Amino acid sequence: MIFSELESGASLEGHQISVFKTDIKAPRYLYLLGGVHGDEVEGVYVLKELFSWLKNEHSLKDLPMIVVPILNVDGYKNQTRVNAHLVDLNRNLPTKDWSGAFKEAKYNPGPKALSEPENQFLVKLFDKYRPGLILSFHTWKPILNYNGDCKDVAEYIHQFNHYDMASDIGYPTPGSLGTFAVEKYGSPVLTYECPELKTHRESLKEIWHENEEGLKKFLSSDLVWNKLK
Ligand SMILES: [Zn+2]
Repeated sequence: MIFSELESGASLEGHQISVFKTDIKAPRYLYLLGGVHGDEVEGVYVLKELFSWLKNEHSLKDLPMIVVPILNVDGYKNQTRVNAHLVDLNRNLPTKDWSGAFKEAKYNPGPKALSEPENQFLVKLFDKYRPGLILSFHTWKPILNYNGDCKDVAEYIHQFNHYDMASDIGYPTPGSLGTFAVEKYGSPVLTYECPELKTHRESLKEIWHENEEGLKKFLSSDLVWNKLK
């Protein structure tokens, strides 16, 4: 597939948030999103490998697709979950249940909903190119966490990587992308939690390889097109 680079966003520290798009107009787009949490290198790595495959795979029918390899570029450089304001970008989106309260510093939702430039940039993209399905790559325990109408996507990928599947992760996540994209755009979100390297796996390559077949087949399937109608 051929991608063009769109105008990038800027992080708090002035770093570039790169974004790439296939040259197709469609009512809804598939989003591949990485590095919402800057220290979750496993998820970033899986998306990086997937994106380089997509760029070199010319037999695939072009999907209307947008790729943001690393949203929280400052956090990625500084190896922190949070951005340079110490805000958790996945608690800062303007959901109906957004709240300024938090118990642990790593879940700091910010002074108000959508206060952070990284999220403002993401929401502008969504407004311009409406999401039909979002895969957001994270790291935790391996789990395919589906919000909205994408249980079938989780089940499809589960056949290959055998990760657990869940519609919620056991605690509330106000201000999260999974809640926000369903609420505002009716777009399902698969929060794709990769296993943690230091506790679960030998290498980043191993994590990519256990996800490679499922992700490649999914992106070549009719299922992905059904979500973009
Ligand atoms: Zn995360």
